Amino acid sequence: MKIPDKIMIGGVEFSIHKDLDEKSGPGFSGSANATQAVICLYNTHGRPESKTEQVFFHELLHMILDSLGHESGVSGPYDEVFIDSVSLLLHQAISQIIKAQ
Ligand SMILES: [Zn+2]
Repeated sequence: MKIPDKIMIGGVEFSIHKDLDEKSGPGFSGSANATQAVICLYNTHGRPESKTEQVFFHELLHMILDSLGHESGVSGPYDEVFIDSVSLLLHQAISQIIKAQ
């Protein structure tokens, strides 16, 4: 799956920065910022492509829900467990759809 350089989310064009250097310690693999309209993927070299895709879907789902006015966090309507589980299943489904083309 080719991760695009840009993607529209709720009428806003987000830039996707791939293969950035590690930002905040081991295991840090992605971040997103709705105000700056960016999705960042870190340390993609040496990581399985499917794992990078999963990180992308995780951050993408954050930004989709954010665009709908649902902020994440302990006081929000969802948490990281929700984001992880839904984004993994979404990635799995879309990967199969792409392979079937
Ligand atoms: Zn997250």
